[in-house]
Amino acid sequence: MILILLGPPGAGKGTQALRLSEGRDLFQLSTGDMLRQAIKAGTPLGEKVRGQMDAGQLVSDGIVIGIIADCMEEKDCSGGFILDGFPRTLAQAEALDRMLEEKDCRIGAVIEMQVNDEELAKRITGRFTCVECNIGYHDQFKPPRQEGVCDECGGTEFVRREDDKEETVAARLKAYHEQTEPLLPYYRAQGILLPVDGMAGIDDVTRQMNEVLDAVKTD
Ligand code: AMP
Repeated sequence: MILILLGPPGAGKGTQALRLSEGRDLFQLSTGDMLRQAIKAGTPLGEKVRGQMDAGQLVSDGIVIGIIADCMEEKDCSGGFILDGFPRTLAQAEALDRMLEEKDCRIGAVIEMQVNDEELAKRITGRFTCVECNIGYHDQFKPPRQEGVCDECGGTEFVRREDDKEETVAARLKAYHEQTEPLLPYYRAQGILLPVDGMAGIDDVTRQMNEVLDAVKTD
């Protein structure tokens, strides 16, 4: 199945995409992760997008559409995948439709993670990840079992995202409301939008997602 996770920054798309990809044996494509890797590796692409990402703005449609097009070239999409953080504009959604049409594939479901802005700001500003295995934590909602030690790999080095600073969060939420929210009616009109309550706890959100996905008919 081709699955899209749609929701504001901080809704938990990355966390849930990882769980669903493991549970359903789908690979996860995260444009945010790919762009951060490019910045870390110091590639020309990374240099190009760093300023916009640090400011909480979306990078250009051409760049992210290019990234996804390259992934689709490399991978066989027939086994299915999860898109986390793409599409984020109507132009991206339309480009994705065209790419899938060429491959005779189609989107199985778009999960909308519903969370209010106040909660998002709290979630985002407390986030950090393990440098070694990239697993996400949160100061308040999901601290490691042993302070300073990653539950998954035992790593002891953690990072906080540059764009998770309080002052940048408002810009990211604005970009979501203005540029990404129009995708909700776009997918609703196609009958593939499945809302879940993203305010629930992490396990409960996973359960809701599995429930709505199990009800989707695949052919
Ligand atoms: P994320 O990790 O999904 O929150 O993305 C982090 C940042 O990467 C965003 O604030 C944007 O600057 C950039 N980004 C990721 N995906 C996209 C996309 N589909 N379109 C435009 N910018 C994106």
